[in-house]
Amino acid sequence: MASPSPHKSPARVKNSMFGFVPDAFGAKSLPLGQESPRRRQQAAPKMQDTPDAAPEKKPEEKSDGQNGEAPPVEETIVPDTGVSTEAPAVPCLDPVIYESAQSRVFIKGGRVVNDDCSFDADIYIEDGVIKQLGTNLIIPGGAKTIEAKGKMIIPGGIDTHTHMQLPFMGTFACDDFYTGTKAALAGGTTMIIDFVLDQKGVSLVEAYDKWRGWADPKVCCDYALHVGVTWWSDEVAKQIEELTRDKGINSYKMFLAYKDVFMLNDDELYKAFRKCKEVGAIAQVHAENGHLIAEKSKEMIDMGITGPEGHMLCRPEEVEAEATQRAITIADQANCPLYIVHVMSKSAAKVVSSARKKGNIVFGEPIAASLGTDGTHYNNKCWRHAAGHVMGPPLRPDPTTPGYLMDLLANGDLQVTGTDNCTFNADQKALGADDFRKIPNGVNGVEDRMSVIWEKGVHTGKMDPCRFVAVTSTNAAKIFNIYPRKGRIAVGSDADLVIWNPNATRVISAKTHHQAVDFNIFEGMECHGVAEVVIANGRIVLEDGQLHVVQGIGRFIPTPPNAEFVYGRVAGRENAKKPQKVEREAYGGPVVEISKTAQQTESAAHVDKEEQAFHNRPPTRSGGRNLQDSSFTLAGKGINTHRDQFDDSRPYRPHTRSVNPPGGASQGLW
Ligand SMILES: [Zn+2]
Repeated sequence: MASPSPHKSPARVKNSMFGFVPDAFGAKSLPLGQESPRRRQQAAPKMQDTPDAAPEKKPEEKSDGQNGEAPPVEETIVPDTGVSTEAPAVPCLDPVIYESAQSRVFIKGGRVVNDDCSFDADIYIEDGVIKQLGTNLIIPGGAKTIEAKGKMIIPGGIDTHTHMQLPFMGTFACDDFYTGTKAALAGGTTMIIDFVLDQKGVSLVEAYDKWRGWADPKVCCDYALHVGVTWWSDEVAKQIEELTRDKGINSYKMFLAYKDVFMLNDDELYKAFRKCKEVGAIAQVHAENGHLIAEKSKEMIDMGITGPEGHMLCRPEEVEAEATQRAITIADQANCPLYIVHVMSKSAAKVVSSARKKGNIVFGEPIAASLGTDGTHYNNKCWRHAAGHVMGPPLRPDPTTPGYLMDLLANGDLQVTGTDNCTFNADQKALGADDFRKIPNGVNGVEDRMSVIWEKGVHTGKMDPCRFVAVTSTNAAKIFNIYPRKGRIAVGSDADLVIWNPNATRVISAKTHHQAVDFNIFEGMECHGVAEVVIANGRIVLEDGQLHVVQGIGRFIPTPPNAEFVYGRVAGRENAKKPQKVEREAYGGPVVEISKTAQQTESAAHVDKEEQAFHNRPPTRSGGRNLQDSSFTLAGKGINTHRDQFDDSRPYRPHTRSVNPPGGASQGLW
């Protein structure tokens, strides 16, 4: 059955079908016999059932199916990323064992859909990898055959944006790495990318270890991590270097929102972007103007608007568009590729789209929520219903927003989709029952993203199945540099795939979903396009409506830096835009003598340092104000001085009465 030899990396060369992808096929399994007895013992209790959310399925949901066949055991290991698996905070990071009865799977008669083409082909899977693809395959004995006639076979979805068990206000997002990834698999998503997001002042490396410790023992599917940069210092810069070099991180998220919590200032943002560029990572931003939101939300409370609608009203979409534009501008100055997480509004989407047309390297990620529903729910009379939609940035009240975002996604202006899955139950949302500012931000999506995008994108005729694959998996794999290991059906790729029935329908409901949360923002939506069979890392996890997941079986997938899809033209662009010194002959004429006089006049005029900053022309020889000097600044208070204007300190002169002012007297009939 399972090959006892390590899975060797196929050589990948430039100009091959996929081009070179560093480490995409790194060794993933060890020979039998390398596992310790301790690991064998620990593996058994990990086999878990999933009866909770769907009691009607209970009788069929056996632990991992295929019991009693006693097949050879394969050990899958988490790639060595240098993380200590012995740390006390990490309860269970051991490699997991699963039965390999399912390790040989033959999928017959389906239509394979990749992002660039689709074709009829059979697929043979062994040891978690696609081994053969085509027709008239010669299949070894003992393979399980799945009939896929009339169905599509697509790469498993990659959700680029989740927050499983995110700590928030003393509580945690209620879907953890177990229920969250279980739900993902149920909906046809076979990989998530979650965010490491710790407090200001916490080492990014320590935060990373903490998240690995939470995720590794619980994940039912493969996962990767982005790391949030919630503060800035030279230390943080070094931590980014370490995480990129040793820990498999190639994406860092910065916040322009959440003032005093996660927000970076523009100069810090610039430094963070520079660092990302230096290490070959992609910078991500949560783009909203945190200063404005802080002010506007106070205004709402003062006006007595304390309900969930206040959350939307204090964050008009211009606040998102402005921050999106600002992030793009700053990233461009740093020549750093940028990824805008959760594009929620038409105006922000337009900013991304037009920046791309100007040549900026920027990617836009609408999410299931912004593509599938809108902000009119914030006005719902039911507090729980309205609060259930609270997320940042908010859903937009303009009901044409989802369709508009889908148009841009279908046509390449936006590239990739996530969910921002971050779920809180009614009692957790109720922390903000009297003040919308305290409602935990977040909605569901990880389970329903694939169906919602199919329904709103493909079923409406806006995108074809290839584009659906591009925006649900392939582009994510390319951006985060795990392509074609993920995001493609090809020989050598991971066997993460979904048999998709475009004609089947299902109705989304919190009553039947697999997530832990008690609410679903897509409640009642009928979706065409259903994941009928889901295979993750070669294991059949969903078949005949039955979900068979194994807690802790998912692997951490390192994301290497310098993704070609992202960085391919950065060097060329930098070179083309390099500042050029103009070579000219030195000026040989006379230069006015000012050094001594200037010093004298300065003291004579009692110009203090702050005032100096205001002057763009020196004082006159007699120490007076140069009349060419601007008397005001657009920068206003607080930029260079504590005063509004440079001469605020001068005595105020009462008004002068002018009997006959220029232009004539103001008394008259008009
Ligand atoms: Zn998020």
